[in-house]
Amino acid sequence: MAKINSNYTNLQENYLFVEIAKRTAAYQKAHPEARVIKLGIGDVTRPIAAVAADAMIAANEELKHAETFRGYGPELGYKFAKAAVQRYYANYGVDVDFDELTIGDGIGSDLANITDLFSSDNTVLIPDPVYPLYKATSIMDGRRICYLECSIENNFLPTPPDYPSDLIYLCSPNNPTGATFDYAQLKAWVDYANACGAVILYDSAYERFIADDDKPHSIFEIEGARTCAIEFCSLSKTAGFTCVRSGYTFVPKELVREGVSLNRMWQQRQTTKYNGAPYATQRGLEAALSAEGLRQADENIAYYKRNVQPITAFLEQKGIFYCGGHNSPYIWMRCPQAMTSWEFFDFLLNTVQVVGTPGVGFGACGEHYFRLSTFNTYEATQEAMERLANVL
Ligand code: PLP
Repeated sequence: MAKINSNYTNLQENYLFVEIAKRTAAYQKAHPEARVIKLGIGDVTRPIAAVAADAMIAANEELKHAETFRGYGPELGYKFAKAAVQRYYANYGVDVDFDELTIGDGIGSDLANITDLFSSDNTVLIPDPVYPLYKATSIMDGRRICYLECSIENNFLPTPPDYPSDLIYLCSPNNPTGATFDYAQLKAWVDYANACGAVILYDSAYERFIADDDKPHSIFEIEGARTCAIEFCSLSKTAGFTCVRSGYTFVPKELVREGVSLNRMWQQRQTTKYNGAPYATQRGLEAALSAEGLRQADENIAYYKRNVQPITAFLEQKGIFYCGGHNSPYIWMRCPQAMTSWEFFDFLLNTVQVVGTPGVGFGACGEHYFRLSTFNTYEATQEAMERLANVL
């Protein structure tokens, strides 16, 4: 008889966004006339850069003709896509070899699949609060988790602990808090990981939102990172590719544990268990990372950043603590009147039909906090704040 991976029974009943969708749908069913404004789920709303969309249309057109048709592509990514990523990294002064890059279908899968390379005995350090995937995938693998508690006291930025560890997920800019490491703070993590032999799994999904010059976009801007870090970066939020699915993972050749190259292991893993990202999406990635693609993507990011102002102006006027919004598309606010984050969720849904994300869904330290996203339209964001002003 097949035995199941019983670690799955340790997962929470409802994944955060499933529960939000369930409660919102139940409300809409009971109040079909209500116009709910969604400042909750972290999905983009602006269209993909035309230059990237056109590149994907042209790539699919190629497949219609015998002369330009393609079959399986290279599992680790086409050279043209790697070249685009290499040029992008060069903007940040980071050198990367083609052999160090893999092109995938977004980074949710790579952030989870990378753990195949490590023994399940490894302890994982996970910031709290943070994007829930790191915790869920560690639970599925049966790994021991130590949480790095983040709060107002440490500006929601974890510092290395005073004990050694094995694997460390870091997310900068952080989802949900927007907290972003500066060079010195990230260097402290790199030094710590090199000293104890840990590996940092660095999620830079929101790097394009960084506005401050004193914040690194890549962990490989930090000296010493090549011997202790793996970086994951997605086009989902950078270029609006959430439905296209495209991202890249950078495993440096110098990263060796127990005498074995992790770069080599990741290549073995991907060439065995993954048959490569679609040709058209890789053409889309190439175009999205071109000068014109980035210019168009940055226009969308500027649009989202304009939504920060109505939200923060409202919170400031009410004297409610918040952070984020500057280097990230999220604003992290304290729930008023000591409400729990799910109480505040239900309060907003029931009184003003505004949906946000309860902070506790990102970890225990997120309790009494709430995440508002800037991915809706400017008009809807403004209206949401007007509605909130009526009840807060
Ligand atoms: N990492 C973070 C911090 C995210 O917020 C998300 C998506 O919201 C992802 C990774 C997943 O990205 P992708 O769409 O590339 O799978």
